[in-house]
Amino acid sequence: MVDLDTLFSLCKRRGFVYPSSEIYGGFGGFWDYGPLGVEMKRNIRDAWWRETVQLREDVVGLDAAIIMNPKTWEASGHVKEFVDRLVECNDCKQRFREDELESMSCPACGGALSQARLFNTMFKTFVGPVEEDAAAAYLRPETAQGIFVDFKNVLTTSRKKIPFGIAQIGKAFRNEITPGRFIFRSREFEAMELEFFVRPGTDEEWWRYWLDQRVKWHVKYGVSPENIRVYEVPATDRAHYSKATGDIQFKYPFGWGELEGVADRTDYDLTRHGEVSGEDLTYFDEESGQRFIPYVIEPAVGVERTFLAYLINAYHEEPDKEGTRVVLKLHPWIAPYKVAVLPLSRKEPLVQKAREVSALLRPHFMTTYDDSQSIGRRYRRQDEIGTPYCVTVDFQSLDDQQVTIRDRDRMTQERVPIDALVSTVQQRLAASLG
Ligand code: ATP
Repeated sequence: MVDLDTLFSLCKRRGFVYPSSEIYGGFGGFWDYGPLGVEMKRNIRDAWWRETVQLREDVVGLDAAIIMNPKTWEASGHVKEFVDRLVECNDCKQRFREDELESMSCPACGGALSQARLFNTMFKTFVGPVEEDAAAAYLRPETAQGIFVDFKNVLTTSRKKIPFGIAQIGKAFRNEITPGRFIFRSREFEAMELEFFVRPGTDEEWWRYWLDQRVKWHVKYGVSPENIRVYEVPATDRAHYSKATGDIQFKYPFGWGELEGVADRTDYDLTRHGEVSGEDLTYFDEESGQRFIPYVIEPAVGVERTFLAYLINAYHEEPDKEGTRVVLKLHPWIAPYKVAVLPLSRKEPLVQKAREVSALLRPHFMTTYDDSQSIGRRYRRQDEIGTPYCVTVDFQSLDDQQVTIRDRDRMTQERVPIDALVSTVQQRLAASLG
């Protein structure tokens, strides 16, 4: 399995991920996503949105504000409960999360550690032109609260009946004590969260259903079955709102770790917001004639965690004529570029033909064009960034109006008429969805 240093250097060299504010020495826990990274993140979001919202009749979307009325976080329990236990080394002064320590001595220098104190990991800011406590607000540490607070609005306007869900993708911020392991634990990340509202009493069944769906989604788009498992979190380790939590874990180079969490949040959040706001957040169930607060099942996953797991899973080194080829076997829908157009030479009229082929593909697929160095080198460059299809335009193409399409994984090369190229790639992409 690839180690994180190798992966980081590939990511930086090829434009997937850069340290944030690098010219100023970086900024711990913050990352920038380059030309390839931004495409791959979009593809992850799109794959999630497509299957969680678009292909389902029982889920609708939402895009709520990042900064919410601070009463939200009082009601949700985050002001009191969204805390980590922080310990400090008496000698080197480094700080650690108590639950991540293997012994009660400093992992950096072996020194003695302080007593743990509670540290709230929500970022605070001020709204309006005064910097005083009355104007303090928080950057959301999860997107879920926007969904709960808008529950009634969405219910009224969408006319959905339970069981139904509200999905949201957006930035979340956590002032992590120990960011690290590359992008695994960042202070700014993007959450993809579904709150699925169900009848009380059916929650366990739905919790199992969503755990199963979410594992299948990861296996479909980027994780081999042997690299994924479900861990049922014991009561002592669960979040304050959770009746049951299943962590979907991935086998990272540093061991099994959380990729996604699926929690049974019960009626906790809606009840609290009802109590604190005074709004009636109950649901009238026509079927049973009863009024109640729905239970909610929440699958929550980070775009960047998914990005990291899929890159690790995709990374392969294979022997070839020139030594070793690095190939990212990313799912075609997740790969930054779908097609690369490669003219065999930089001579005219070949270049013009290749440009035409590229222009033909561009409206349909994220396409790149590369005419520098040997064709072998160019194939390797595309393999290293996971491009599933390379289209080579050669001198014969000028006569027979055909091009060669090379498949990244099967390494097959096939001649295809230019006017059938779009449909050929479309068919292959459709087939890759299974
Ligand atoms: P931990 O206990 O490791 O801090 P958590 O259990 O609090 O994490 P959740 O609140 O369940 O994490 O978050 C849901 C998902 O959001 C995680 O499975 C992960 O994919 C993503 N996530 C959470 N925190 C971070 C972070 N700091 N950086 C990147 N992704 C994150």
